[in-house]
Amino acid sequence: MRPKDALPVVYPSHCPVCETPLIRKEGEAQHYCPNDKGCAPQLKAKIEHFIGRKMMNIDGLGAETVEQLFDAGLISNFSDLYDLTKEQVLPLERMAEKSANKLIEGIEASKNIDFPKVLFALGIRYVGETVAKKLAKHFKSLDIIQNATLEELIAVDEIGDRIAESLIEYFSDEYNLQIIQKLKAAGLQFEISEDDAAPVGNALEGKTIVVSGTFNMARDAMKNLIESNGGKVGSSISSKTDYLICGESMGPAKLKKAEDLGITMISENEFLALIGNASGEQQEKGQVSLF
Ligand SMILES: [Zn+2]
Repeated sequence: MRPKDALPVVYPSHCPVCETPLIRKEGEAQHYCPNDKGCAPQLKAKIEHFIGRKMMNIDGLGAETVEQLFDAGLISNFSDLYDLTKEQVLPLERMAEKSANKLIEGIEASKNIDFPKVLFALGIRYVGETVAKKLAKHFKSLDIIQNATLEELIAVDEIGDRIAESLIEYFSDEYNLQIIQKLKAAGLQFEISEDDAAPVGNALEGKTIVVSGTFNMARDAMKNLIESNGGKVGSSISSKTDYLICGESMGPAKLKKAEDLGITMISENEFLALIGNASGEQQEKGQVSLF
């Protein structure tokens, strides 16, 4: 649909900021500046990614402050955040005692952020939120991921060559290893905690699930499991309900309503099987659900 006199698109050949020749990976649309360790906007963007709400979620630190800290030479990568002192940040423009305290406290608090989020925060190419969760759950610690072979990586559900190769490339880079070493020394979480060991996936993507009755597991834990597997917790039974998880002592009115609407009713163990958890675990304890 382009007009006849349109000129051919000329792609830039060099990075507009650092003037490094751009590269384009086979089969991909974007051109990249490969100078990821020296190109200022890339370095800043990596720090901004690291502090994001779904990653390290650092309170009191936003893109503007990152820019200021970077331009003042106080940080050159995100591991430098953990060396910052209040005295260093106070002289920055628009920084007051209160905001400086908030910033330092926010950085300190991020040391408790769970491993899957830390892994996502590192900004490894192709390792997004879901992939980070899967890797963390499968390998349990960064050390194991770091030492995994290509074969071991692609053996994980939904991890293909592209992600596996990106991980291997990331961990073979001395610069990245130095950053990780510094983050470890700062006390960040590089192993999965028990809470994170719960199954994560998208088996329940787009499904609305209502929970009724009592179960072996705590009600909140079940709701968390529904959400961490892509489902939505419904507050009451309606025609929009996909599954009703039936526990003990569920009210007869609810049961009838679900039957009338033809909603699929499942037990706690069937629910666990659905999300790929070891379904026998509850039964081994000698507890059997209604179904
Ligand atoms: Zn550049």
